[in-house]
Amino acid sequence: MSQQLTAETRPSPTIEDYLAIIFVMERDGEEIIAARLAESLEVTPPTVTVTLKRMERDGWIDVEGPKNIHLTQAGCDAASSVIRRHMLTEWMLARMLKVPWSHVHNEAHAIEHTISDDIENKMRQNFDNPQLCPHGNPLPGYEYVTAQWKSLTQIQAGERVVIRRIHELAEDDSELMQFLENNGVIPGTQAEISEVLPFNQTLTLAIGGRQVVLGFPAALNIYVEKE
Ligand SMILES: [Zn+2]
Ligand SMILES: [Zn+2]
Repeated sequence: MSQQLTAETRPSPTIEDYLAIIFVMERDGEEIIAARLAESLEVTPPTVTVTLKRMERDGWIDVEGPKNIHLTQAGCDAASSVIRRHMLTEWMLARMLKVPWSHVHNEAHAIEHTISDDIENKMRQNFDNPQLCPHGNPLPGYEYVTAQWKSLTQIQAGERVVIRRIHELAEDDSELMQFLENNGVIPGTQAEISEVLPFNQTLTLAIGGRQVVLGFPAALNIYVEKE
């Protein structure tokens, strides 16, 4: 049974950040390794090691080897809670304060930890129970909504698609997000894959008469639905 976390029993903001990233990586079936956590959290690997030990002691994670880190039920509940608050905060910033789409993720990171359960519920009602964040990533429990969407790197030249999702971990890259926003590569946009050049590691999207060139590493994080 999952236990209801209240604002008083939540872990610290630092631990919430770790839990959220571990949740996203585990959901994608990725190996949770300290080096990747260090990169995502912009801290040193020794810091990650120390923090993971503390999280294991406090019952948020199980560690069965350096590449075998899993969330406990309590860790999973705490991660779901902060991710929900993060995504609802993104909607609040985007809809009510008109913060640009490419900026809401970083702004929400600073605010999400302070949102009370009461405000979280009010936000959810206000935004009609969203299943996805403004970047198309699923709120915990709504993974089935995005399950059929394919990464752009799996699409052939000549196919028509609708942009649906920019992966949560790519939202951290503000330059990428700014580029995508400037070029209209946002959820809901229709595009055609006009060219794929594997030797160059690029693909080109035609969006409303404009050509947008993306490298494979960026394209890998953009999910689409075939038209
Ligand atoms: Zn985000
Ligand atoms: Zn988002």
